[in-house]
Amino acid sequence: MFLEIHDLKKGFGQGESRVEVLKGISFEVERGEICVLLGPSGSGKSTLLNIIGGIDGADSGYVAIDGERTADMKEKVLTAYRRRHLGYVFQMYNLIPNLNVKENIEVGAYLSDKPLEIDDLLKTLGLYEHRHKLPNQLSGGQQQRTAIGRAIVKNPDILLCDEPTGALDYNTSKEILQLIEEVNQKYGNTVIMVTHNDAIKQMADRVIRLKVCRS
Ligand code: ADP
Ligand code: MG
Repeated sequence: MFLEIHDLKKGFGQGESRVEVLKGISFEVERGEICVLLGPSGSGKSTLLNIIGGIDGADSGYVAIDGERTADMKEKVLTAYRRRHLGYVFQMYNLIPNLNVKENIEVGAYLSDKPLEIDDLLKTLGLYEHRHKLPNQLSGGQQQRTAIGRAIVKNPDILLCDEPTGALDYNTSKEILQLIEEVNQKYGNTVIMVTHNDAIKQMADRVIRLKVCRS
């Protein structure tokens, strides 16, 4: 099994104000799959992505990648894991405003020792003709394509997407989800994605549902 989430628990706060967010969640993801996290706002979707991404720690349980638990990784190994093996795409594109499309994607390439060929990737993303434009000269969909390019150019084993279409209209969202599926098929990256767009139903290999926990 490539990615294993085992009995993961996570809460925030102390005493009266303590909230248990993840109450023992378990699932597995095979290499190359698209796994979708569904659940209402506050159900812990972002918390779960952050724990998988090694940005936050769990209270108990574990995340294992290729059999190795992220909590057992030494700081250096964890940093290398985050840098080389993970790509992150957020709702907000967080592009660097004074760098053009190609340069924004190159930023991601610097973090990898096996980056993808940039011109080829620009064509896959439908951005080749726009490669010299600055972010403020792009539509929202094109900005998100650029952000996906920056995450994927590292050729990460896992692409974590946190509501990547949250700021886009329905049809543009659908195009972005189709692009993520195309990238998944072309480069074989495992995708873990939070989205509410129902176009995802045809693409997902696995759907994990989270509930808001009252404790
Ligand atoms: P979702 O992404 O599903 O909307 P989140 O994972 O962002 O949910 O948050 C789940 C719950 O955990 C919310 O109640 C949120 O307020 C709380 N939470 C998340 N991160 C923190 C934090 N760093 N400190 C305190 N509470 C947090
Ligand atoms: Mg969230």
